[in-house]
Amino acid sequence: LPDPPCGLLTADAARSLVDSVDAFLFDCDGVIWKGDKLIEGVPEAMELLRKLGKKLVFVTNNSRKSRRQYSKKFKSLGLEVTEEEIFTSSFAAAMFLKLNHFPPEKKVYVVGEDGILEELKLAGFECFGGPEDGNKNIKLEADFYFEHDKSVGAVVVGLDQYFNYYKMQYARICISENPGCLFIATNRDPTGHMTSAQEWPGAGTMVAAVSCSVQKEPIVVGKPSSFLMDFLLKSFNLETSRMCMVGDRLDTDILFGQNTGCKTLLVLSGCTALPELLDASNKIHPDLYTYSVYDLVGLLQK
Ligand code: PLP
Ligand code: CA
Repeated sequence: LPDPPCGLLTADAARSLVDSVDAFLFDCDGVIWKGDKLIEGVPEAMELLRKLGKKLVFVTNNSRKSRRQYSKKFKSLGLEVTEEEIFTSSFAAAMFLKLNHFPPEKKVYVVGEDGILEELKLAGFECFGGPEDGNKNIKLEADFYFEHDKSVGAVVVGLDQYFNYYKMQYARICISENPGCLFIATNRDPTGHMTSAQEWPGAGTMVAAVSCSVQKEPIVVGKPSSFLMDFLLKSFNLETSRMCMVGDRLDTDILFGQNTGCKTLLVLSGCTALPELLDASNKIHPDLYTYSVYDLVGLLQK
């Protein structure tokens, strides 16, 4: 095998990495868990890094849950993580609207699940759509005209396991007919661990469907967009040059780390396999790679 364009995490590299950063940003699926199953060695790695005085922050592109719901998920897996330490693409969508002074008299139409609705409501926005929407009995007859709410000023598209033609049409009309209507994507992951056993189509597939119908690109607020980093830096006294992003996906996690000036560590416990990392067509090179976060424990205790 040729040498990868990034280094394998050795004991020396692990020590110098830990010495050079104050915080570790962990991607969740493929690093902490796979679907609902905890990845081996995560509690030990988290405990060790905390003992070494490192701040731990968790950044997930999965829009299905809110920060509050993720904090419960961490707890159910035996991990103590507060809401403030969790940054989700659902929270990012709400914060994007807040930061851009989205007018309170306008509404948000959501193609997505409860996590997005909860974060939007917590941020004070009126929203509708979500999993319950779209059970309408549409008959595509010649005189059928699809009415929509003209006060929708933003459409947020995330993962929606009840995605359907009605929702696609509602999103399409709002974006193309309401003047200035924003088109926001929580993330563009092509797949995700909807179950621990298998990957399923991700939010990127639904974003692509809406994007195709309106012939417009969305504003992406999840990884690899650097948008979430501003909130992270405001919440904690950290600088990105002293942070390490740990993730399993090159085009979201590693790119996010690189876009924001963090050090990057790819773990092979998730969706990226070694051949993909080494392939000449891959242009995204993390600083370091290893098999899983558990390796940190063994290497730092050598
Ligand atoms: N989106 C969905 C729907 C998912 O199921 C997943 C992973 O399970 C992701 C995104 C990626 O999440 P993460 O950023 O934590 O890897
Ligand atoms: Ca991941």
